[in-house]
Amino acid sequence: LVRLRARLARSQNSLGKGLLTLLSREHLDEDTWEEIEETLLIADVGVVPTQELVDRLRERVRVLGTRTPAELRSLLKEELLTLVGTDFDRAVRTESGVDTPGVVMVVGVNGTGKTTTTGKLARVLVADGRSVVLGAADTFRAAAADQLQTWGDRVGARTIRGPEGGDPASIAYDAVKEGIAEGADVVLIDTAGRLHTKTGLMDELGKVKRVVEKHGPLDEVLLVLDATTGQNGLTQARVFAEVVDITGIVLTKLDGTAKGGIVVAVQRELGVPVKLIGLGEGPDDLAPFEPEAFVDALIG
Ligand code: GDP
Repeated sequence: LVRLRARLARSQNSLGKGLLTLLSREHLDEDTWEEIEETLLIADVGVVPTQELVDRLRERVRVLGTRTPAELRSLLKEELLTLVGTDFDRAVRTESGVDTPGVVMVVGVNGTGKTTTTGKLARVLVADGRSVVLGAADTFRAAAADQLQTWGDRVGARTIRGPEGGDPASIAYDAVKEGIAEGADVVLIDTAGRLHTKTGLMDELGKVKRVVEKHGPLDEVLLVLDATTGQNGLTQARVFAEVVDITGIVLTKLDGTAKGGIVVAVQRELGVPVKLIGLGEGPDDLAPFEPEAFVDALIG
């Protein structure tokens, strides 16, 4: 929590702290409520959730009458928690089969941090005592397989790869086959995220998915989204959700943005929880998404 707070504090004060400062004004006039609304919109919370939150805050502040700083803080915390959602199941599922490895497919537009996230996730799983096989099915970006293999070598996970420009589905197939042969616990598959045509993407991801499912069920399809991309990220999310059933969201680069509100917007958009967050480029910079810690870090 301390590290999360430190990471987010650098960039995200503007949301929670800003709201608290505004709510603490002696006179909560219309201009102040407008500023509160703007703060939420700038942080990418989205129009509808912003309106809902402002309405609730207005009502609760009115009922409260005189407010102590502590009361305001806990009121804001409660409302932000409601907005982020506390009843999603946010665990990354990795254990569908008894004799077969859990399979996690990682999807998202190139540059969002897909390969890095796959590597970091492998590291977390291995540290947890699970054996991992990596599938380098991003054959579109030249360096992706090397990059993934570097992660694999570092954490002790075998990386299955093919020729550059090769068939992603066959690499995914081989990775799962290898996972079964090795008796691995989890297979993580990094995919390519070129988004120039929806049909192309659909063909490719759909094929990877079908091929993987020949071995058994897919446990998770994690969509990686760059938190700094705002509305653009949401548009991407929509396209991916049309192509594959997303089961969890990874929000990366939360260390570099004041737009933490995207957590709320993307969950609403997809009806799927944020499960992991990226807080930097280093190997330890992937954390489970914990609403309470997140909101605490936002408020500072
Ligand atoms: P991919 O094309 O989606 O596989 O993206 P990469 O995994 O290669 O990541 C693109 C860039 O984003 C790299 O420079 C990563 O180090 C960086 N990156 C990934 N995750 C994070 C994060 O959580 N925070 C920050 N600051 N950078 C990140």
